[in-house]
Amino acid sequence: MRGGDMVANRPVRVAVLGRPGSGKGTQSGRLARVLGVPHVSTGELLRAEIERGSPVGRRAQEFVEAGQLVPDEMVLESLAERLDDADIERDGFVLDGFPRTIDQAVALDALLAPAGLDAVVELMVPEREAAERLGARLVCPECGRSVSRDQRSALCDHCGTVLARRADDDVDVIRSRFDVFENETRPLLNGSISTADSSPWTATEPFPKSRGA
Ligand code: ADP
Ligand code: ZN
Repeated sequence: MRGGDMVANRPVRVAVLGRPGSGKGTQSGRLARVLGVPHVSTGELLRAEIERGSPVGRRAQEFVEAGQLVPDEMVLESLAERLDDADIERDGFVLDGFPRTIDQAVALDALLAPAGLDAVVELMVPEREAAERLGARLVCPECGRSVSRDQRSALCDHCGTVLARRADDDVDVIRSRFDVFENETRPLLNGSISTADSSPWTATEPFPKSRGA
């Protein structure tokens, strides 16, 4: 069944962006549950490929563990496959962690054409705070929920799986993830660069507008 009464009777497509540690996973998961649509995290998709030892996973592993972006064609391969599923065609999605570069934004526009995204949400959390959260969290390998280490038990509240530290939540790797965010993803968010084809949501207009400017 779909979420609340307010949910549109057509697919809802939302993307959530923000630096590592800004709460993308948590907020995207909540939003997806409220909207009654699948939560699609490219980080989770990649970690699942790595876990399975698939060809994409084997090639992606070194990038993920170094806090670098996985090359576009690999991410796009797993994303495009997921976006083809019937539940997504019917209900839409909350996309978490994609796009992270201008090129990915252009690729997403092409994948979704002619519909496009309904909304883009940027989570803004200062770097220091985000770093503290990442350094102190445990994540559930099963359902992806994360909790602060000092607050909870060693088991996931939701599914009872033993919580673990994520391999890339290491000080040096966190640093690298922040740098990647500033260099590659920030240009998407500050509206100062528009895509080659001026596709609406990555161009200068919608972001300032949706912030009420
Ligand atoms: P975070 O945003 O906190 O780094 P994610 O789970 O979203 O966590 O991503 C973890 C890692 O997965 C990234 O550091 C990167 O290596 C890879 N990744 C996720 N999404 C993308 C993407 N859109 N493009 C390239 N690599 C990605
Ligand atoms: Zn869990």
